[in-house]
Amino acid sequence: MTKNYQMYIAGAFCDAGDGQRFDSVNPATEEVWASFPEATAKDVDRAVKAAHQAFTEGPWSRTSARERGRALKRIAHELEKVGPELSVAETTDTGKLLRETRWQAGNLAEIYDYYGGLADKVEGSLPPVGPNQPLSMIVREPLGVVGAIVPWNSQLHLAAFKIAPALAAGNTIVLKPSEEAAAAIVEFARVMHAAGLPEGVFNVVTGGGNPCGQTLVSHPLVRRVSFTGGVETARKVISASVENIAMLSLELGGKSPVVVYDDADMDNVVNGVTSAIFAASGQSCAAGSRLLLQDGVYDDVIDHLVVRAGDIVVGDPMADDTQMGPLATRRQRDLIERLLTESVDAGAKVLSGGGRAGRDKGWFFEPTIVACDGQDYPMVRNELFGPVLSVLRFRDEEEAIRLARDSDYAFAGGVFSRDFGKAYRTARAIPAGRFWINTYRVTNYAMPFGGSGNSGYGREGGIEAIHDYTQTKAIFADLSGAPVADPFVMR
Ligand code: NAP
Repeated sequence: MTKNYQMYIAGAFCDAGDGQRFDSVNPATEEVWASFPEATAKDVDRAVKAAHQAFTEGPWSRTSARERGRALKRIAHELEKVGPELSVAETTDTGKLLRETRWQAGNLAEIYDYYGGLADKVEGSLPPVGPNQPLSMIVREPLGVVGAIVPWNSQLHLAAFKIAPALAAGNTIVLKPSEEAAAAIVEFARVMHAAGLPEGVFNVVTGGGNPCGQTLVSHPLVRRVSFTGGVETARKVISASVENIAMLSLELGGKSPVVVYDDADMDNVVNGVTSAIFAASGQSCAAGSRLLLQDGVYDDVIDHLVVRAGDIVVGDPMADDTQMGPLATRRQRDLIERLLTESVDAGAKVLSGGGRAGRDKGWFFEPTIVACDGQDYPMVRNELFGPVLSVLRFRDEEEAIRLARDSDYAFAGGVFSRDFGKAYRTARAIPAGRFWINTYRVTNYAMPFGGSGNSGYGREGGIEAIHDYTQTKAIFADLSGAPVADPFVMR
């Protein structure tokens, strides 16, 4: 039976003003399993106004930093109780492995806990000024309503890195999940409700890019937009900010290189590369999708990887022994098939996989490895967002770095070598917001992430992220008691 979800505006669960709904499909079965309100522009306007009211006049505007921290810790506490339910909703909606969504749900509580602890540590400063100058204070203040947009992959996790620092700093939020997968976020709204946040502090609107997303990012009362998604949508978000002059952060895609030198440890390479491209079915912004292998180790690494890719268990994302679930959307599978076909037609060679995984239903795709004799293939230039690895060959450190740098994206990267000096030089030479040496994909909420170029700008995670949801105010206070000087008398 289809599950009917509601969105969350001004502290209440509700339907769209005009009663319209849209369906969500389980990517493992291709069956409709849930439906959501299709928010109209008016619904989004109501949510933003509720958030604005909460920021300017509601109790949230008067809470101390410590109270905000305690609210975040209550959210963490609630998450510990309902994490398993959230993970089932996310897996059903996106096909991400239950094992992984379970782990992420556990980690969610830690993120809210972390920012809860930081809420009362957002400090201003007193710069040194001359003895006859007024007291000069720099205070940090919240921005107002934050419009947050997340894609379908790791949505709860990605949303947490927006919600937690934004609330810790004193802002209010309207969040839009992807129309492709909104269930986990709407379930999460119940957590916020149970945590007792004042009305309007947190709102969820469900609907597509337009009008729901577009109305949110261009709304005149939205002061800050935190966007995670693809580069084409990011361009629309940037255009919208021309209207409301909202501050932006853009967490976009990647085409991240993984460099393997001749002296690397083979077991580490195989596990690291498998994790870089086949974990989460390659649907990760940080996926290491361009493998650069040095001449001396090229054949050996490929032989090992082909065996490993062939052993990966593709199947039901709910099952504990599954290693790769389906792609989250049909659109994604179509894109991968098109770019792969164009590349093979142009001369790229499939070494493993290359097609739909043999199941009747569901958007399953085989773990795929493709040899490319240069970077001018569509699959090397573009983000596929799936389990497809391009493999290239290089002679020396200089060529590895040149190939790695030759991309419009700069999100992440990795290097495998026993020579730490060489690995470190490589890490420093490749533009990226995140880089792994002799490992891949390990993460921690205290570490920042984000990219540059077509991978966007801004950083999420870590202490600094709170500052991104504040702005400074410079206050000059003359405490000397001396009369204010006549501006037309020169002294
Ligand atoms: P997408 O198509 O760009 O969608 C992202 C979000 O933007 C969705 O909620 C989407 O809503 C919404 N949207 C669409 N049109 C909009 C508009 N005109 N105004 C405002 N919002 C709009 O991306 P996707 O295919 O869902 O996600 C995959 C992309 O996200 C990949 O490029 C991936 O690398 C990137 N990503 C980046 C990070 C990171 O941290 N850097 C993390 C995860 C994913 P609808 O889906 O309802 O249309």
